[in-house]
Amino acid sequence: MRTKVIAGNWKMNKDLSESAELINGLKSKLATMPNGVKAIVCPPFVSLALAKELLKGSPIELGAQNMYFEDEGAFTGEVSAKMLKSVGCKYVILGHSERRQYFKESDEFINTKAKKTLASGLIPIICVGETLQEREKNITNQVVTTQVAGCLKGISAFDIEKSIIAYEPVWAIGTGKVATPQQAQDVHKLIRGLIAQLYGPATAEKVVIQYGGSVKPDNAKELMHQPDIDGALVGGACLKADSFAAIVLAAA
Ligand code: PEP
Repeated sequence: MRTKVIAGNWKMNKDLSESAELINGLKSKLATMPNGVKAIVCPPFVSLALAKELLKGSPIELGAQNMYFEDEGAFTGEVSAKMLKSVGCKYVILGHSERRQYFKESDEFINTKAKKTLASGLIPIICVGETLQEREKNITNQVVTTQVAGCLKGISAFDIEKSIIAYEPVWAIGTGKVATPQQAQDVHKLIRGLIAQLYGPATAEKVVIQYGGSVKPDNAKELMHQPDIDGALVGGACLKADSFAAIVLAAA
């Protein structure tokens, strides 16, 4: 049985005091984690050090929303793997559709960052997913196949087993339009099949594939009980302790 992994992507929300309030709320609601479930919070960079302090002794883990692949130097505004590790991060979201859309991140760029993440001992949460236009053109499978192949290029089977893939149909992100459990399962199965082709079935069975896109407490259970859906990447509903905790508990 694969672990169910629920990650909360706070995006550009919550200042320092709001971050503390949310983390304290989550700590009290998720003082113990159900068996076989992991919960990760990914606050903005400026709240990570505080989050690390507040999460001491809590089973909730810490991740970041992005990272640059160089170690250090003249890269204004960027943050390295070493920096993220120093503030207690274990995970990094890479290639979120908002980064692809607003910051023009390509599969190749995401791949370079994923390799650096893994070489640094961090776990990447690599996001893929089609736009509404692509779904309507019936090219979802092609788009996702290209993204998975591009993002995973040159990554070893050993590293892939540790990595997390998040399937996030762009049309479902922040729109309230959730994919049906069957639509999501179909693409998750495709992704697991691609990993099996690239790395063999034993490796594919171990990889955690999250669904993301308008996951809420009332739809989480059905989605996460699909055979190839191993958790959720949550945006809007992770900004309140009640709803994020409810999604985590729905995974049990
Ligand atoms: C996301 O941003 O990764 C996401 C899935 O957002 P939401 O849950 O708000 O759709």
